[in-house]
This record gives sequence, structure tokens and C-alpha cells, in this order.
Amino acid sequence: MIRKFIRRLLGNGSNAGEANVPLVFGPQAHGIDPDDVSSNAVRVTETLQRAGYKAFIVGGAVRDMVLGFKPKDFDVATNATPEQIKRLFRRAFIIGRRFQIVHVMFGQDLIEVTTFRGSSSDGAPKDEHGRVLRDNTFGEQHEDAERRDFTINAMYYDPEQQLVLDYHGGMKDIRSRSLRMIGDPEARYREDPVRLLRVVRFAAKLDFKIAPTTRAPISVMAPLINNVPAARVFDEMLKLLMSGHAMACLQQLRQEGLHHGLLPLLDVVLEQPMGEKFVTLALANTDERVRQGKPVSPGFLFASLLWHQVLEKWEAYRAAGEYPIPALHLAADDVLDSQTEKLALQRRIATDMRDIWALQPRFERRTGKTPYKLLEHTRLRAGYDFLLLRCASGEVGAELGDWWTEFMEADSADRESLLNRKPPEEDGAAPKRRRRRGGRGRSNSSGDTQ
Ligand code: ATP
Ligand code: MG
Repeated sequence: MIRKFIRRLLGNGSNAGEANVPLVFGPQAHGIDPDDVSSNAVRVTETLQRAGYKAFIVGGAVRDMVLGFKPKDFDVATNATPEQIKRLFRRAFIIGRRFQIVHVMFGQDLIEVTTFRGSSSDGAPKDEHGRVLRDNTFGEQHEDAERRDFTINAMYYDPEQQLVLDYHGGMKDIRSRSLRMIGDPEARYREDPVRLLRVVRFAAKLDFKIAPTTRAPISVMAPLINNVPAARVFDEMLKLLMSGHAMACLQQLRQEGLHHGLLPLLDVVLEQPMGEKFVTLALANTDERVRQGKPVSPGFLFASLLWHQVLEKWEAYRAAGEYPIPALHLAADDVLDSQTEKLALQRRIATDMRDIWALQPRFERRTGKTPYKLLEHTRLRAGYDFLLLRCASGEVGAELGDWWTEFMEADSADRESLLNRKPPEEDGAAPKRRRRRGGRGRSNSSGDTQ
């Protein structure tokens, strides 16, 4: 019966842009491994279906499972309204930003549930460049599919029947590894310029080719990113940098002409020869951690990306006569201020960045009580990892990193002998000597910023 249904639809072959009827793929055709499906996502679709609503896993999770990856998160789409969804679950919260969504929580696990969107954003409020500001009109499933960004992100999976509903030829595009915008790409970028960053992220992460018509308007549309609220750009940048393919994403951004002048951070990162080695190492390190499923701290990531800018300014303040530690803090302020205009760094992340930077000169003081004090510092681990990156990039001598590795692992007797070990004459740590001069540097260096 189902097979007949599928054959009928496949025979129909309709995958045009306005498809109201989806292609339907059974388990053989889509190949999704039921073990990859989150049990909480299934609880959500089941609960909604039992209450008489339509409910599907949708978006990136379906795409990833068809590709054979385990998705990192699960989204559900339904014809129930946010209020109706909320009533069905014990811990459900309506989150209203541009689009209302419902967060359904199971312990730490979060399933995002959205109501099918209506097809047209014509009546929605927009800014003067055509960016949709708010839109909460609900609609049919095929309309919801049309509002999604790429064909491969507009497939719906019903875990109960194990069927994939494909409205825009996403399955075909997955097979040919093609990233294709639904509808008119130029209009879709205009509605939401964040899609310019999304296209790059997916192309790099999935190793897909951007379809020529989807690619053509990118460089022309690039300046539209400037109208997007900084917090949204930040969220998208963070996703890009934590995708496990950060280096590939940044290279692709450069290739598409998207980094220039729009994101001050990327201008710095991609066009700073001195820091390139450091940044490359930092991103390779981040990519590796993400792929191993280890946590990555945004503060560490952004501290790395901006370190060479800090170094440059630190040097300039010292040359102008500031003491090293206050000079470092002034440099940190300058760099953070210059970024926040377009890239809204949350306060918590900015504080982490300052802590990591402020720890760096303190690692160079290997006498007296200072190293012991550092062992108790809450950000020691991040600061130490950062120090190791500086060593690996050649900015400071490897000996300093090795010393700290030994010191952290040693017992108390060994620590004492390490403290008495004379550091080599030259370990490449430029600011060291001057800081010893007078009491001011000392007292300042003992307190962290903020
Ligand atoms: P990821 O693997 O990064 O989570 P994703 O495709 O799931 O990728 P999300 O940001 O989680 O991306 O969004 C979920 C789905 O919502 C997308 O697959 C897409 O269908 C839709 N979507 C998200 N952002 C947009 C957007 N800016 N424009 C149109 N559709 C979007
Ligand atoms: Mg997702």
C-alpha cells in the first residue's frame, strides 16, 4: 500500500519550486537508521500525533540522518499552535523572537518545536532593505516547506511510519551533493541575509557544492549582512566556528567575498599574516575537539581569534610608556570595543576572553607564590591551553609551556624543585623583563580583570 503510494508520487516526479505534494520516501529509499533518531524527539512527535496533530522531525536532523550522521539537535514541525503545543508537555516554554517557537525540555535535552509557517511573508513587517522583522503567520505543511532555506533542509521525517516527505527535491540534491536555495535566491537572501552565512556554513560542513543560481547573488548581496542585528550575526558566526569545520568555513567565506568589511573579526583573522599560524592552530584545535565531541568554549575561541590584534595593541601601549599589565588591559578593552559594534559578544564571553588574556603574562612569573596562586585560578585550564597554542605557534618558547605542564602535574616536592629551576636566558617571552621593574607591575599582575 505504502509502496504503491510512493511509486505514484515518484512517478509523478514533481519537485518543482511550488510543489504542494511531497515526494515520499520509505526506509529503503531514505536509509535513515532508527537508532540515530532521538528518543525525546520521538516522544514529542508521538505526543502531538496522539493529540490529533501532524508532527514531523524536520530540517538539519533529517538531512544529517539521510547523510548517515548522528544529528546534534532535533527540531520538530507541527500544525499545532504554540499554545496547543505548550499544553501537551510538562516543561515547555514559548520563546518569541522573530518567530515564535516552543522549547520542550527533557532534563538537559531540548527539542525545538515550531508551528508550520504560512507561505507568504508579503504582509510581514520588513526593514527598508526588505529584511523580514517578524512573522508569525501559520500555514500548511507545504507552505512551511517553502519558507525553509535550502532544499536539503526542507524534508520532514515521520518516525512512526518511517517516511520522509520531500517537497523541494532535497533527496535528489543530497545525492548530487548540491546546496540549492528554495525559491528565488536573491529574494531569499534579501528577506534574511543570515542565509548568506548559512550557505557558506553548510557548503563547508557538508562538503556540498553551492548550486550556481544559489551562489551567483552572494557577493552582490554581501553588504546586507550589515543590517542584521549583531546578536544574530554572532549566533550564526558561533555556529560556523563550532561546526567542526571552522577553517573550511572561513576559507569559503573568503572565497565568496563575504568576510570583507562586513565582519570586523574576520577581516582581522583572515588578513593578518602574523596571526595566521596562531589562528590556524586554534581553529584546527577547535575543529578536532568538536569532532571528538569535546566541549568548546566560545570565550577561548574568540580569545584566540583576536589575540594577535591584542598583541599588536599591547605592544603599542607599551611603546607609549604604559606598564605591561595595564597596557594589556587597555589593549583588551580596545579590541573588545571594536568588535561589539557588529558582533555582539555576550558579556560572559567577553569576561572569559579577558581572563584568558590577562593570565598570559602571569604564566611567565615562575618564582615565589605566583605559580601556586595560578593553580587555584578558575580559568587556569583555559589559560594554560591558550599558552600552549602560543608556544606551538612560535610566539613564546616551548620551554614555558613544558614547564607549566610539569608544574601542573607535579607533586609538591617536585613543584618546589621546578620553582628553583632557572629558566633559560631567552625563551622568547618579550614582555617578561620589563615587568619585573618596580612594584607596580607586580601588584597589577596579581589581580585578574573583572
Ligand atoms: P544545524 O546542523 O546547524 O543545526 P539546521 O539546518 O538544523 O543545521 P537550524 O538553524 O537548526 O539549522 O535550523 C533548523 C531548520 O530551520 C533548518 O534546517 C531550516 O529548515 C530552517 N531554517 C533555519 N534558519 C533559517 C533561515 N534563516 N531561513 C529559512 N529557514 C531556516
Ligand atoms: Mg538544527
